[in-house]
Amino acid sequence: MDSWRPSVCPFDCPDTCGLLVRVEGGRAAAVKGDPQHPFTRGFLCQKMAQYPARVHHPQRLRAPLLRTGPKGSGQFKEISWDQALSLAAGKLGDTAEASGASSVLPYSYAGHMGHVHRNGGHAFFHKLGASKLGRTICSATASAGFAHGLGSGPSTDLSWSQYSDLIVIWGSNTLSTNLHAWPWFQEARKQGARLVVVDPYRNQTAAKADMHLMLRPGSDAALALGLMQVLIDEDLVDREYVAAHTLGFAELAQRAAQHPPETVARLTGVPAGQIVELGRAYGRAKAPFIRTGWGPARQLKGGMAMRAIALLPALVGAFGRRGGGIARSTGAGAYLDLAPLLAGELAPEGTPTVNMVELGRALAPDAPRPINLLWVYLSNPAVVAPDTSAVLKGLAREDLFLVCQEMFLTETARWADLVLPGASSLEMTDLYTAYGHRWVQMARPVIAPVGLSRSILAVFQEMAARLGFSEEVFRAGEEEIISWLLAGGSPCLEGVTLESLSSCRPLKADIPANPYAEGFLTPSGKVEFYSESLAALGLDPLPGGEPSRDDDHGGAYPLQLITPPREQFLNSTFNEVDLQRQRAGEASILLHPLDAAARGIKDGGRVRVFNARGECLLRAQVSDAVLPGVTVAEGLYWGAHTPGGAGINHLTSQALADLGGSSAFHCNQVEVAPVS
Ligand code: SF4
Repeated sequence: MDSWRPSVCPFDCPDTCGLLVRVEGGRAAAVKGDPQHPFTRGFLCQKMAQYPARVHHPQRLRAPLLRTGPKGSGQFKEISWDQALSLAAGKLGDTAEASGASSVLPYSYAGHMGHVHRNGGHAFFHKLGASKLGRTICSATASAGFAHGLGSGPSTDLSWSQYSDLIVIWGSNTLSTNLHAWPWFQEARKQGARLVVVDPYRNQTAAKADMHLMLRPGSDAALALGLMQVLIDEDLVDREYVAAHTLGFAELAQRAAQHPPETVARLTGVPAGQIVELGRAYGRAKAPFIRTGWGPARQLKGGMAMRAIALLPALVGAFGRRGGGIARSTGAGAYLDLAPLLAGELAPEGTPTVNMVELGRALAPDAPRPINLLWVYLSNPAVVAPDTSAVLKGLAREDLFLVCQEMFLTETARWADLVLPGASSLEMTDLYTAYGHRWVQMARPVIAPVGLSRSILAVFQEMAARLGFSEEVFRAGEEEIISWLLAGGSPCLEGVTLESLSSCRPLKADIPANPYAEGFLTPSGKVEFYSESLAALGLDPLPGGEPSRDDDHGGAYPLQLITPPREQFLNSTFNEVDLQRQRAGEASILLHPLDAAARGIKDGGRVRVFNARGECLLRAQVSDAVLPGVTVAEGLYWGAHTPGGAGINHLTSQALADLGGSSAFHCNQVEVAPVS
């Protein structure tokens, strides 16, 4: 019997699309967008269209595997779940006895965004006394930057942009990574809105803009200050709004005065004329709307960059106007009550935390605190964590026991001692919120588990039973947990209950489209141009324009490198799907014709990209779509799918951004040389 059943895209993407899955003979035969989803409106990206191929891929793991060959060799034999979980329980006990429970480290992130399973291992590791993982690799710096200017909480909803007359997309390749925002922008354009993109390269989105400001990576705060100076200098500031809703304008004006267009042009590479043009357009627009991606935050001074951008709407009073504001992250996730599922109270006092960006350091044999058992799920750190060489050295340690729960034998799973087959989102019940819209949805299984695969929650509950953990969280079912998350949630989830979600159709959380119209969750309740809380941390209380810089080792690595996503992959996911790899083509690096000519590099030629951390082989793409001195390598390819066997994170560092502890993925100095 054929049928289309509702589900939700589980991947780490702001859109969280409503899906319809056609099931034939117990298999997911096709997926399409749910036309009744009010935000995602019936279409999917090219990645998700391949989801059935991924779910039923012949190389999908279908049984637990035990390593039989040397570490990393990929040699395994199938074992039963009982054998696998007994072995894991024994190793956990032995490790805790030999080197303390804190020598166990879980490593997980957003390989699946459903709240039940994404968070389904935390209570287990807390009870065990394992080291905690600081899950800050992605969005924490952007959140912190915003929090120190506008306060925490949701930002302006993307759909609000339909009423805007000037949309500025700052550091987001919307057509690749936030596709369902585009129709709202197009609706505004039909009414006459202008679209401006600020980005270090001419990506698909920038190519469709009315104006593109191509800036050097890490110079976003300088550009924001330059725009502020134009607004102040040309009397385009909304003085009434500033007087009523902000703190520290006089100090900000002094700082902005140090950033006239010519100075900012030198710092950013953006011509002074374009800075003035955008400043004027922004100041004269009735309702300017900014969409920030995460790109500006992936810098050593990424928190400062996000803070500086976030302050712009307040200067012109945009928060008080229909269609005006700034979008970073919306959604109801922050309003759920995750505490009963996370069970943080079970963790012993003083349990250490490892920042996931610094996995390579944490796994080093001489690390101050040893990690002797690593349990990886919903992440692929051998590809996605920075400084891959350091991570791989750690994973290769003979004295490290590595458990990996995965759907495929990823580059991390290949190093595992024990591999557990993970279920796909189509095989489990979960609750989804989005960070790009305000709709909440539940999904139930639409197919039976493929092979012997099991969900995250099921595995950790079984492990808990083996270790004698008796708390309720280790016995509760998926729907019971969902009811906990909703029952203790904030009032904006009123009416969103297990029962009302049970049709698996989206329900809207009561979050305003323009939350900043209702005030700011800062200590002062106002927009803080001057931040006392940053001053108390010993940080610059005002926006600072000094660009982020990686160490270039005395000029040995003169080119800046950024590593944004590639349209065909979602982090390292979809590398497994042949068609997506074919569509993506060979891993490449974009560089300016002047830089190519200076190095004897031809368009399409193979090049070696290197710095003190490592090297990889890529295909040169020579174009003026970047500034001289800047290079761009899109996409997280598995090393196995690159000619040199090394992905781009061999070149990125474990350095942390200034606020929030995220990775500075886009702050790298490299050199590029032709390969004959
Ligand atoms: S990856 Fe994003 S755009 Fe693609 S289907 Fe999933 S939520 Fe939608």
